[in-house]
Amino acid sequence: MRIPLSLYHQRIRKLYGRPVTVITATETNCPTCGYNEVTKSGFDPFCPVCGGTGKVKETTSTDVYCRVFWRPLRIGTALTGFQEIGDCYFFIDIEEEDTFRSANQIFIDGKEVIPLRFDYIDTPYGEIETVRVTAEIKHA
Ligand SMILES: [Zn+2]
Repeated sequence: MRIPLSLYHQRIRKLYGRPVTVITATETNCPTCGYNEVTKSGFDPFCPVCGGTGKVKETTSTDVYCRVFWRPLRIGTALTGFQEIGDCYFFIDIEEEDTFRSANQIFIDGKEVIPLRFDYIDTPYGEIETVRVTAEIKHA
């Protein structure tokens, strides 16, 4: 049986990577009383689930294994000079880009980080496969 490339990637990344925790919050209509589009609130003002707002927040936490480098990304050339960006960078699959872009919070090694830029890394065959995310530590 052939193993799909993405699954193969995940196995490699589990061995050599570390978990990057992605927290995403989504707002949905209250499953108990529902959401009234006209009044912009719940149908039951005393609903124990939504408290009358008609909306409930759901947070999902996913661990994505990535190769993480705790150092600034160095860009530029000897001619133009070098510039250092962020505190760390890590690599994700292109399929995971949306998850990271829409994340509410991202944690690496217990530190919350904010993505600064997403760079596409081409394969030798010209297609984009990997995205390098450069991030900085969020300071309170
Ligand atoms: Zn409700």
